[in-house]
Amino acid sequence: MKALGNFKWSDPPDESKWADCVHCGMCLESCPTYEITGQEQHSPRGRVYLIKSVAEGRLEVNEQFMDPVFKCLDCRACTTACPADVNVGGLIEEARGQIRQAMPLTGVKGFVGKMFLEKVFPYPNRLQSLGSLMKIYQKSGLQKLARSARLVRVLPKHLAEMESILPEVGVPVRRKYQGAGVIRARGEARNTVALLTGCIMDVMFSDINEATIRVLTRNGHNVTIPQGQTCCGALHVHAGDRETGRKLAKQNIEAFKDASVVIVNAAGCGSMLKEYPELFREDPEWREKAEEFSAKVRDIAEYLFDTGYEKPKSEMRCRVTYHDACHLAHGQGIRREPRQILSGIPGVELVEMPNADRCCGSAGVYNITHPEMAGAVLESKMKNVPADVEMISMGNPGCMLQMALGVKKYGGNQKIVHTVQLLDWAYQKDDERAAEKTGQGGGG
Ligand code: SF4
Ligand code: SF4
Repeated sequence: MKALGNFKWSDPPDESKWADCVHCGMCLESCPTYEITGQEQHSPRGRVYLIKSVAEGRLEVNEQFMDPVFKCLDCRACTTACPADVNVGGLIEEARGQIRQAMPLTGVKGFVGKMFLEKVFPYPNRLQSLGSLMKIYQKSGLQKLARSARLVRVLPKHLAEMESILPEVGVPVRRKYQGAGVIRARGEARNTVALLTGCIMDVMFSDINEATIRVLTRNGHNVTIPQGQTCCGALHVHAGDRETGRKLAKQNIEAFKDASVVIVNAAGCGSMLKEYPELFREDPEWREKAEEFSAKVRDIAEYLFDTGYEKPKSEMRCRVTYHDACHLAHGQGIRREPRQILSGIPGVELVEMPNADRCCGSAGVYNITHPEMAGAVLESKMKNVPADVEMISMGNPGCMLQMALGVKKYGGNQKIVHTVQLLDWAYQKDDERAAEKTGQGGGG
């Protein structure tokens, strides 16, 4: 595909994506950045208009264009609200690809961005090493010391806040099951699925990956962890580095080529994997491969719901609310499945959160690149958390970190959990009860 107007590089924003926009404004209220700024340029309609103007040569790719394009959370709420299904998020990602080529990041931002996006995330071993360093920081007493001596204050405020809610780093399942081959289903196997372990998920939330494996095997699915897999590329595509995004997509398509089902437990990764064909609009051969691959991708809640799963019997006795991660609800249309899993656990009282599908401000690394806007979005989100719930459940690691920060900042005490974790805990209770019964039976 050739350049378009003042978008001078290949893979420009796709004209067909804005063709249906009739400027009706029905998307405005859904947009968190418009709610906060009240400015048209920070609304979906405004952003579509700006992108179209550059494509028609009436505007330049410059700072004034970059600001609203990068201030977008890519939360996709506008696409849900739009009667014409205008894919604003897709346009934003394509426009960012052009901006990053026209105006590459320089200085510290350029260095840090390049280092993490190009030198760390694409290499699972490097990411795991970083996780090991974090573990040493947490376990050696350094973290305690840094906090008590207030050394974390040298960090910018938003990074110090993030440091305060870092979960305890465990052993990545990718490393733990290396060379393990197939992790066998409990009982007779119904199917074999391949697990995308994810980057942040496997480093910071390996316990959720473990829970995912236990839940799958309990429900009769053999699990494999293809070792050739890599980062899904969502962070790269959101940042405008579509070239690296394509490289990572190709690696994953190859790594999972023998899988019939690819299970994902992180909404942002799942959405990215399902959208791989978008990255190959100019490459028919890879587009076909990407379409085949994307058709195999399932979010864990979607998969359990569709294939049927064992309902736990033990009572959990807790009040839980559910936060719709943007890339599950708006990105993949998955809303009903996680709610049904939660309310299917005996004793779980599911309390609906008003505006549950409103972004929490995490949005990949948005909370690091745009801390003020992310903070305002989080504040508005936290006002909607029902006061008397004990847990907030969701299906995305970025949201889990951001919501944990919200709970800490606004004085809540709710536990942040992944939906599959709650199901896993209920199963564990079932197992304990069964073991008690067997023990009693054996003694009598
Ligand atoms: S993006 Fe959709 S909802 Fe928003 S102005 Fe255009 S047509 Fe209307
Ligand atoms: S993706 Fe989200 S932040 Fe961006 S324009 Fe749409 S609603 Fe607004």
